[in-house]
Formats: sequence, C-alpha cells, structure tokens
Amino acid sequence: MASIFSRIVAGEIPSHKVAENDEFFAFLDINPVAVGHTLVIPKQEIDYIFDIDDAKLGRMMAFAKRVARAQEKAITCKRVGLAVMGLEVPHAHIHLVPITKESDMYFGGKKLEMTQAELADVAAKIRAAFE
Ligand code: 5GP
Repeated sequence: MASIFSRIVAGEIPSHKVAENDEFFAFLDINPVAVGHTLVIPKQEIDYIFDIDDAKLGRMMAFAKRVARAQEKAITCKRVGLAVMGLEVPHAHIHLVPITKESDMYFGGKKLEMTQAELADVAAKIRAAFE
C-alpha cells in the first residue's frame, strides 16, 4: 500500500506544497513544531533515509538546501534546523524547521495550532521565495 506521503505526492491527500522537482517534494508538516516546519521527501517510496543511494541522497540534500534558503527568506528565524527521525511515517523525510532558539526544534512537546488559512499563507510565502 502506498505510504501517506506517496498519496500526498499523488494529490490524493491534500498538502501545503512549498516546492517540487522531478525527484523530490516539499510540503508543510501537518503538526508543525515551528512556523514553516517543512518536510522534504523523495517521490520514490523509500522507508529509511540511509537506504537511499549516495547520489540521490546528495541531490535530496541539495534540494532541501534550496527549500531552507526559501524558508530563511520567508520566515523570521536565525537558522533552519534539520532533523531526520522517521519513526512515524515509513517514507524517508527530512524535517526543515525555521528556528531562533534550540527549543523551537523540540519534537516531543505540544505542536503549534495553525489554521488551514495560516498554513496556506506560510506555504505561499516559502513557495514564492523558492528559487
Ligand atoms: P517522523 O516519522 O519523522 O517521526 O514524523 C513524521 C512527521 O510527519 C510528523 O511531524 C507528522 O506531523 C508529519 N505528518 C504525518 N502525517 C502527515 C500528513 O498526512 N500530512 C502532513 N503534511 N504531515 C504529516
């Protein structure tokens, strides 16, 4: 069965897309730990990020870097933090989180409550800054 993220790529499940190319897709996390929290995934369904071959993993990181540059422009933050866990969804993904302090990137706590309109606005700003 297709992963929930493959279904997002296919457009079967809605998402707030921020960027896409032929290999990778970036969209806002549904339960953000900070404003602009974005997930970068390969379109190809691979569970564990370290099972991705070196060349593709390099391209994925380069794509994530472009997304991070867009987040830096669109969201007030000091840096964009990067994390990989993959304990919940078995489809490789990089978390990119705009942060100003360490606690902005705490995944074990209460998530931000954002409306669909607010998420759409944030996604549009990152999309507009993506080069
Ligand atoms: P992890 O697998 O790295 O532990 O976390 C998976 C992440 O995917 C979580 O931060 C969770 O909020 C996010 N997530 C799970 N299901 C969906 C979904 O259907 N849409 C979006 N946009 N994010 C999701």
